Parts: sequence; C-alpha cells; structure tokens
Amino acid sequence: MAASKLEYIWLDGYKPTQTLRSKTKIIHDFSGKLEDCPEWSFDGSSTQQAEGNSSDCLLKPVAIFPDPSRKDAFLVMTEVLNADGTPHESNGRATIEDETDEFWFGFEQEYFLWDHETDKPLGFPDGGYPAPQGPYYCGVGAHAAFGREIVEEHLDICLEAGLNVEGINAEVAAGQWEFQIFAKGAQSAGDQIWVARYLIQRTAEAYGVGVNWHPKPLGNLDWNGSGMHANFSNELIRTAGSKETIEKVCEAFRPVVDEHIAVYGADNDQRLTGDHETASINEFSYGVSDRGASIRIPVYMVSHGWSGYLEDRRPASNGDPYKIAARIIKTVKTVKA
Ligand code: ADP
Ligand code: MN
Ligand code: MN
Ligand code: MN
Repeated sequence: MAASKLEYIWLDGYKPTQTLRSKTKIIHDFSGKLEDCPEWSFDGSSTQQAEGNSSDCLLKPVAIFPDPSRKDAFLVMTEVLNADGTPHESNGRATIEDETDEFWFGFEQEYFLWDHETDKPLGFPDGGYPAPQGPYYCGVGAHAAFGREIVEEHLDICLEAGLNVEGINAEVAAGQWEFQIFAKGAQSAGDQIWVARYLIQRTAEAYGVGVNWHPKPLGNLDWNGSGMHANFSNELIRTAGSKETIEKVCEAFRPVVDEHIAVYGADNDQRLTGDHETASINEFSYGVSDRGASIRIPVYMVSHGWSGYLEDRRPASNGDPYKIAARIIKTVKTVKA
C-alpha cells in the first residue's frame, strides 16, 4: 500500500491581505488525478473564516501538481467553501467569469527575499543600506544578486511541478526578484501563481529566509516597490487589428479605476506614486511602451498590427490574482468590437 502525501493549499480569511495555509492528507493507492482528491474540511475559526461555534469550512480541490520536494507527494490547490457548499466570501476564484478560458494571463510576480532578523531585504547590511539602485536589475555577482540559490531552487521546483513559469529575473531593488507565469484561463493562471507563491515561501523557509509580498516594504525611501503586472488578452485583443479597438479596450478601464484599485492589493497607494516606473494611483493613462502608464501597450502590439495583449501595471505584489483577473475580465467583457 503506497502512501501519498497530498498538500492541500488554501487562502485564509485575513484582511486586507490573505495568506497561504496548507495541511497534509495521506491517501493510500492514490491515482494522482484531481477527481480522486476528496473534499476536506478545516477549522475556519483559526483562519478568520468562521466563528468558533460553527467552525467547519470545506476545501474543494481545483488543481493538482506533483510535489518535487517530497517523496510520493502532490500539491493540491483548493478553494474554500462554506459548510453548505457555497463559495466562502474569501474565495476570489469563484468570482471569475471566464467559462471558456478565453482570457489569457501572464502575471509578473515581484517579491523581496527578506531577512527577518534585520527586518530588511537580503543584501541589506544590518543597520545600513547597500549601494543605491542601479546594479541589481538583472545583475550578476555577489555585490548585486542576493539569494540566487533560493530563486534557482524555486524555479526548478516550479518547473518540475509543471507550473508554466516563463522566466525569472533579479529586480531593481537589492534582494528583489520576479517570476512570470502564463496560462490560458484565468483560474489556471491564479492557481499557478498561488502555488508558485507557496513554493517560494516553503523553499526560502528552509534557508531561514522570508518572502515579503508588501508592495512597498522599504517605505518612501528611494527603493522600488513590488508589483504584479497583469498581462492579459482575450479573443478581441488578440485579433483587434486596429489602434481604435485597442484604445476602446483601454478606455473601458477609465471609469472603473476605483473598482480595479480595490482588488489590486492593500497599501498599493504607497507604491503607485508616479515614481519608480509607476503611474499615480489617482490617474489613469495608457500608452505604447510607457512604463509610467497605468496600462502599457507593449511594442509587440504595434509590431503585430495592433493585435496581441495589454499590460495593466497597477496590480501590487500582494494582490490576489483571482480577484485581479476577475475584475479585468469584467471590464474587458463590456467592450464589443
Ligand atoms: P516586462 O518585464 O517587459 O513587462 P515580461 O517579459 O516580464 O515583460 O512579461 C510579459 C508577460 O506577458 C509574460 O508573462 C507573457 O506570458 C505575457 N504574455 C505574452 N503574450 C500574452 C498574451 N497574448 N496574453 C496574455 N499575456 C501574454
Ligand atoms: Mn517583467
Ligand atoms: Mn518587473
Ligand atoms: Mn511588466
């Protein structure tokens, strides 16, 4: 009787930023298939998802990946349901309206590797600062790249797990990194970002290193914050073929700035200042190749006859990709060719 370890992963009910939880279920003679992952329950009163006198919440498996770091193991992404089977209010995945996987998403997840003893990023000397920004973005060498062994290990684990990571890079601040994940289908993109987040936290844990998802962990000092640019497309955007159509899509975002910012991550106002390659949180703009715009029209779009994808640069590193995708879909769906 082979015993498999299934790590059930879910999002808790913490506000304003949900965090990851997981627990292990042992299954004998497991097929490895999603449909053979049973529903499971947990104590919602310990995760701010239920009251103590009625504490059971349900975990509904939605995606499964092999777990390369453990023997005979799987990572099972789940969504949280109330005891009656309805989606829990913390469940952003259930709010996605993309039944046909028409929407494609490429998220660029930025984050800091964090030294909990100094309460500073890796590479920051205790009580001081490293050299100013400049050498760190895509840098190499012990003066520029901090924590590469963790990042490399994470990349290998993600790829072995079957996550569609498209690339990684060292970012503009010391100790700051990025990975990109692309998927056809908003739910799959969200599942994969959350599992990749889980895996970087677990990988870094073994080194005694933390992951800081805050969009501006160094406050208003001259250090970049972390975003999670959302690159997106649907059939319309992929085949638009005209500047007018693409601008119509961009304009659809203008009247709903507040609705978008509401789900783009807590404390994003500290990051979207208009400096450090961001647009001001109070303004809406778009432009070709413009990294200071809310929405960037990639030069790819222009060189491909105004068909392709758009980049919303506003989502923060701590945003929920499910809620971000759900909101983008809602806005783009209002546009007709
Ligand atoms: P940059 O750092 O220049 O903003 P990246 O190369 O880090 O760009 O990220 C670009 C992202 O765009 C990638 O994650 C890629 O998967 C995504 N992307 C490319 N084509 C599409 C498309 N048609 N729909 C959605 N996302 C796309
Ligand atoms: Mn990038
Ligand atoms: Mn980046
Ligand atoms: Mn980008």
